[in-house]
Amino acid sequence: MLFAVFLALFLPCVGMSVVFVVYMCFFCHAATTTRQQQSSNNHQEPMKGINEKGLSSAQLDKLPKVPGQELVLGNDCAVCLDVIDKEQVARIVPGCNHGFHIECADTWLSKHPVCPICRSKLETELFDGTTESNPC
Ligand SMILES: [Zn+2]
Ligand SMILES: [Zn+2]
Repeated sequence: MLFAVFLALFLPCVGMSVVFVVYMCFFCHAATTTRQQQSSNNHQEPMKGINEKGLSSAQLDKLPKVPGQELVLGNDCAVCLDVIDKEQVARIVPGCNHGFHIECADTWLSKHPVCPICRSKLETELFDGTTESNPC
């Protein structure tokens, strides 16, 4: 008799826990799959517009340098908004002849291959051509 009572109490409990475990497994599985879908969706969207590479340090070295007093287009550095002293050496953007502090120009141009003032693009081929003289 005791055994029958025990079974009567125990079996529904087991049944309930099995249903509960299956339900939890299903719920967890659904949650992880949606999370995976979300992360893969994020992965599939590449950041656009950051494909432009800045100049390498070797290319930066080839940019013309002039003393501050020879700057034609004013001696204000547009990157740090400070004045380029006459004795200071300034980096010139070829083409538009805008001048900047060497550190400022290098910092900017290593990230963006454009002039910070007029946005004129620096042609990287310009530097690559001058380095290697044809061996033939
Ligand atoms: Zn500067
Ligand atoms: Zn410029």
